[in-house]
Amino acid sequence: MPERSFEEMKAAQAVLESRIVAACNKCGRARERVLLIWVSKFHPMESVEKALSLGAVDFGENRVQEAVLKFSVKRPGVRCHIIGPVQSNKLRPAATVADAIHSIDDLKSVGKLERICSEFGKHLDILFEVNTSEEASKSGVSMEDAESFLLSLPETEFVRYRGLMTIGKNTGVAEDSRKGFAFLRNLRDKMKARGGAFSDFSELSMGMTGDLEVAIEEGATMIRVGTALFGERDYSRPVNDPV
Ligand SMILES: *Cc1c(COP(=O)(O)O)cnc(C)c1O
Repeated sequence: MPERSFEEMKAAQAVLESRIVAACNKCGRARERVLLIWVSKFHPMESVEKALSLGAVDFGENRVQEAVLKFSVKRPGVRCHIIGPVQSNKLRPAATVADAIHSIDDLKSVGKLERICSEFGKHLDILFEVNTSEEASKSGVSMEDAESFLLSLPETEFVRYRGLMTIGKNTGVAEDSRKGFAFLRNLRDKMKARGGAFSDFSELSMGMTGDLEVAIEEGATMIRVGTALFGERDYSRPVNDPV
């Protein structure tokens, strides 16, 4: 699959933007309240460069190594979001390259990230992933355990608890994701109301190419979009493909 040209990506951005605006209008939300994360995973650096020329500032990667290769050289104003599960031995490079990690689902990682970030005095935004799809294969805390898990979190100084993330049901029917998204919003509201360590617990990272309208209607503050912007991914591309 060839990568999209600049013109193709520009056209795709316009189509996506009209989808986002229409969804915001439908539920009376301001477009500015929905952050678009350009999910560039499995796409080469030349596609990231095209996105940057189109004004993209937030990028999502699900593999730490790929994020490091693409985003270690910091560009002013550009943010890297890690959106995939991070193994314990990759937390250090993840914390170093990322501005936010969306996919934390265990206590141990929180402690480790706090220690790592304290070393360089870096503030790192983290979101907790909840498995709302009820598929055992997916990562994330179960819906049942999510609240007690959040209540068990320690007070931190460098790691900031910013909100929740989920992946909708991948059925091909966007509406199937709605219940999970609504669950996430209710849990976010409940936690934020507690204040303290949760006073900045505002973010809802949910919605992808197939279900972003439903996510926006249910209150998404961040949508993670890959295919609609960059086209299909070539999963055979090695992570260290010179890009
Ligand atoms: C790949 C990925 C996306 C983007 O999915 P698209 O359907 O291509 O928009 C969003 N979130 C996560 C966690 C992903 O891994």
